[in-house]
Amino acid sequence: MPKESEKKSIEIGAGLLLYIIAWAVADLMQVTGAPETVMFLLAYAALSVTIYREQLKKIAKKQFLDENLLMIIATAGAFAVGRHKEAVAAMLFYQTGRLVEELSLSRAKKSIAGFIDIRPEYANLKIGGTEKIVPPQELLPGQIIVLKPGEKIPVDAVVTSGMGTVDMKALTGESEPRAVWEGDRLYSGSINLNSVLEARVAKRYNNCTAARIMRLVENANEKRSESIHFADKFTKYYTPVVILIALLTGILPPMMFTEARGEWIYRGLIILVAACPCGLMVSIPLAFLGGIGSAAKQGVLIKGGILLEKLVRADTFVFDKTGTLTEGVFHVRDIVPFNKMTKEELLETAALAESYSKHPVAVSLLEAYGREVDRTRVTAVEEQPGYGVHAVVDGREVYAGNIRLMDLAKIRYLAAVEAGTAVYVAVDGKYAGYILISDVIRKDAGKLMRWMRKRDLSAVMLTGDNEQAAEAAAGELGIENVYAGLMPQDKVELLKEFRENQVEGELLAFVGDGINDAPVLALADIGIAMGGLGADAALEAADIILMEDEPSRIMNAVRISKATLRAVRQNMVFAIGMKVILITMAFFGVVNMQNAIIADMAVMLISILNSFWMLWYPEKGA
Ligand code: ADP
Ligand code: MG
Repeated sequence: MPKESEKKSIEIGAGLLLYIIAWAVADLMQVTGAPETVMFLLAYAALSVTIYREQLKKIAKKQFLDENLLMIIATAGAFAVGRHKEAVAAMLFYQTGRLVEELSLSRAKKSIAGFIDIRPEYANLKIGGTEKIVPPQELLPGQIIVLKPGEKIPVDAVVTSGMGTVDMKALTGESEPRAVWEGDRLYSGSINLNSVLEARVAKRYNNCTAARIMRLVENANEKRSESIHFADKFTKYYTPVVILIALLTGILPPMMFTEARGEWIYRGLIILVAACPCGLMVSIPLAFLGGIGSAAKQGVLIKGGILLEKLVRADTFVFDKTGTLTEGVFHVRDIVPFNKMTKEELLETAALAESYSKHPVAVSLLEAYGREVDRTRVTAVEEQPGYGVHAVVDGREVYAGNIRLMDLAKIRYLAAVEAGTAVYVAVDGKYAGYILISDVIRKDAGKLMRWMRKRDLSAVMLTGDNEQAAEAAAGELGIENVYAGLMPQDKVELLKEFRENQVEGELLAFVGDGINDAPVLALADIGIAMGGLGADAALEAADIILMEDEPSRIMNAVRISKATLRAVRQNMVFAIGMKVILITMAFFGVVNMQNAIIADMAVMLISILNSFWMLWYPEKGA
């Protein structure tokens, strides 16, 4: 239990005890008058000092019109009209309610952290022939660690010996274990399943996947939802209105019929108690936390409640092609040298020039090259997003990229005739040939497209790749709106244009892989990045991160968002409906203060439960 809550439980316990004593003494020993008042006052004080203190602080900040104030007026008033028992009981229940609130919120946060239970506790550092257990924070890049079966991988690392399988479910939501061997990357927070591996530490703990994801999730609620803002604003206006109604109830009827003045004041006070919006206030953030937690469990990191609201309104999804709708793993289909170079030489030159790039094109060329790259042969590397790279390889100036790059470098080339993506290579200002590569559509993208068509959501494809490659992919996926041959800044311009032509209230999401598209991710109403593992830019710029390279995870996120908002709406209608009923009952004097607050607690518990469910929203729900 958090410290705050512990303190509160002690206060409630003490208050309850004093209350029982006061009640027993007053009833059994027939104590009345001042001594009786003092006894109840003691219980009341134990229960309410913190609330009074909080409220005094809020007065200084001019934000005191809230449910605390309602309770203070109501209970102090009840005391004043001699309803001691009710006053203490109301405060007792109110405080208990607040404790339940606090506990459920902290419980929800804990379970989110638990779902993505990725914080590694220790690492086996290999020094010479021995092993030493150290905290993962102490590991330095380059050190060798030993991973035993069942252990959590402490930091991002690269396998140096052994082979085995890792479970990345906690990171990606994907339950299929992944095979790894020498040279493969391991992500902190995943679990080494069944063999002993040795690995070289790649990054310091704080920059590692696990630490970054934990930070993201911990800050998830910073982007607060509009519903929460609404609820906050609502109380600001609601509180004075309720106080006014209570005042009128206490003042007007007694002026008309002079008898039973105390009774009417009491009813006014019950209205204050009944009107307290406490349950609603907590059930809303709780539902959002639950939604975010469920999404995290399903491999989707959502950076705040407000995005759940936005996702529900998203109507157009703009996709980057390479690496998002396609696997971004190109296969070399043809190598066409232009002059005396051999195919091997052409591929080697291109691979060396690309050796510092993270672009899918570069990664694929290096993969096709297949050998370790001697990076000392490569200098003066310059990457031109949307064009390609320039580098000095073995002292010779190399360009590798698309037609635009060749034009830019004023190199005469022979255009490739086959369809696909061609990487043109020039050495020392002369055209040296091209390498034809092609990409595969993600199966998963087809699934997403079908889902979108059923819901009348429109899909747009943007790509820096050439027209034919773009059309081929779009045709296969059934996307009609295609924009090809775009530079990164063209993508930005296009997106701005889309946003200007947007229908009021509908939102635009951009889905990319974070490579060359961080500005677009930031510009869209909702930036969705794929492949949270590894891509730093994506983690920063995006609002939503799909941990696994599966665009269809967007479906999970939308489903969860809808369910969350549904729960929020249900809670609002239920809570406000109950308030209206209770206030009416209080006005007609058919409910006393104690029962009013018990009814209020019931409303709160039901709303909290309704919200709590969101934490376990099923993967294939609704
Ligand atoms: P997209 O992700 O939509 O394909 P990019 O802006 O990432 O768009 O890339 C556009 C094009 O620029 C690629 O299709 C490729 O032809 C070229 N390109 C970009 N980076 C490189 C690179 N490192 N090496 C070769 N070509 C590149
Ligand atoms: Mg891209």
